[in-house]
Amino acid sequence: MCLICSVVCSRGQHTVLKAMNPLFPNGLILINVSFREGNSPDHHQNITYNQLLRSVCRCANALKLLGVKKGDRVAIYLPMIPELVYTMLACARIGAVHSIVVSNFTDLIELNMCSTDGVYRGDKLINLKKIASEALERCKERYVPVCCSLLSEEPLFTSNECEPEWMDSEDPLFILYTSGSTGKPKGVLHTVTGYMLYTSLTFKYVFDYHHDDVYWCTADIGWITGHSYITYGPLANGATSVLFEGVPVYPHVGRLWEIIEKYGVSKFYTAPTAIRLLMKYGREPLQRYDLSSLRVLGTVGEPINPEAWLWYYEVVGQQRCLVIDTFWQTETVKHLQLSKPNKNKVTCPFFGVQPAVLNEHGEELEGEAEGYLVFRKPWPGIMRGVYGNQERFESTYFRKFPGFYVTGDGCRRDKDGYYWITGRIDDMLNVSGHLLSTAEVEAALTEHPSVAEAAVVSRPHAVKGECLYCFVTLKDHKEFNRTLMEELKRKVREKIGPIATPDFIQNAPGLPKTRSGKIMRRVLRQIARNEKDLGDLSTLADPKVVEVLFSQRCEAAA
Ligand code: AMP
Repeated sequence: MCLICSVVCSRGQHTVLKAMNPLFPNGLILINVSFREGNSPDHHQNITYNQLLRSVCRCANALKLLGVKKGDRVAIYLPMIPELVYTMLACARIGAVHSIVVSNFTDLIELNMCSTDGVYRGDKLINLKKIASEALERCKERYVPVCCSLLSEEPLFTSNECEPEWMDSEDPLFILYTSGSTGKPKGVLHTVTGYMLYTSLTFKYVFDYHHDDVYWCTADIGWITGHSYITYGPLANGATSVLFEGVPVYPHVGRLWEIIEKYGVSKFYTAPTAIRLLMKYGREPLQRYDLSSLRVLGTVGEPINPEAWLWYYEVVGQQRCLVIDTFWQTETVKHLQLSKPNKNKVTCPFFGVQPAVLNEHGEELEGEAEGYLVFRKPWPGIMRGVYGNQERFESTYFRKFPGFYVTGDGCRRDKDGYYWITGRIDDMLNVSGHLLSTAEVEAALTEHPSVAEAAVVSRPHAVKGECLYCFVTLKDHKEFNRTLMEELKRKVREKIGPIATPDFIQNAPGLPKTRSGKIMRRVLRQIARNEKDLGDLSTLADPKVVEVLFSQRCEAAA
């Protein structure tokens, strides 16, 4: 079944909510609440747990009225507003399996998902309704579209009570399509109890959550981080949290810091891509706000380069906060390692996590080593399958090294037994027989004061086999020229060695990223190789970036 959830979502959305929903009295704060911060700074709302329960029940009753029942799959296409959380939880309450589509997937047809109106992110209007209608038209043969407008008419007036459906612990809770940074998205299937257990437990211990904390995760709910650490983890712990609808630089570049001050956020969770974006604007925007409430700073999604780590620790956390680097995946739903403030080092595994490092032949490496990061033994929060494709599930995660869960990431274990993530195995390069990690080269490039962000991919080379093709995004007002290129090459040579000297360096005003902020290196590899058939780009946040990069690609070595 395919469900369309249509919500009126505009700059005046807060007013719409108040006007249409008598259950949201303004300004009433009880003990535990969610703070909802709109796209615009004057749109905010407090939602108590009691109100949340009633909204979820009403939404659950509305879904039932529409014919949704236990086991049905419900696709949700909504922006970052409370109704998204209500709809997810309403599905869970009646035993339906939700599948959330991030609200700017450009091609929904493979995902068979739909829904609606429009939303402002920053000053950009995204016409969700149009995208959803087109997708619906294309998949109407196979799915039953049901349209419901959550903020209008009868769904609002259903009962405030809805008996929860009794579920088996292994019943499916949701399907989530992974970011697909390396290929066509996969529908990762999670089940009720294992997922809930792991998200609530990791939330409590990894963020050291206490009752007087105010927690904020900036992720999109359409990404596993948002599912786990905006919806299920914090809510299962009765946490006070912030739900932010907007973007970090609207209406000004200090917006995140403003929100931290406004709500007294103590636990903050974001991605390296956001940190690098904000670093570009320097310290001044932070100095305007009081960030003394902060205690723990989390990061997730990509290896965090040392420059970004230090900025997070020193400038945002004022050298006072614990920085935790959480490595995990849509598939695993558990924090595999945590880090201490010691520069980009991912350290100890979370309870029950048993990592191992294997070489190409599947042999386990002891002590100091570099190789494939795998996990021994299953755990409750592990995915239960790839929706509709058992073969892909087995071949992707278990076939390469029988008896282990294969993360697809490389890692290094140092002499102290600490783990360092070196990036996706697919992103490793082999230059003249030397295996190089793209993450390390990128970290060297971003140490240069002019560079805001870097992405490195391989390009075939007649002599070396492969060589390095680097994309660099410069900080505001910095100029891309030959001197800079020479400095960057020198930097990499000094940090890693002459073997890693880049052959190509391209100025990249923007990088192709998924909505969750991951750089799509597959696309960059194709640009570097001038391969025009880019395959599935449905998870790309801004397709225009690709055209620009193609038009400026380097033909000759630098
Ligand atoms: P996703 O499931 O889409 O969130 O992607 C999971 C992948 O993101 C992992 O396999 C890693 O490649 C990468 N990743 C996530 N968190 C981290 C981290 N803290 N450090 C390095 N890589 C990470």
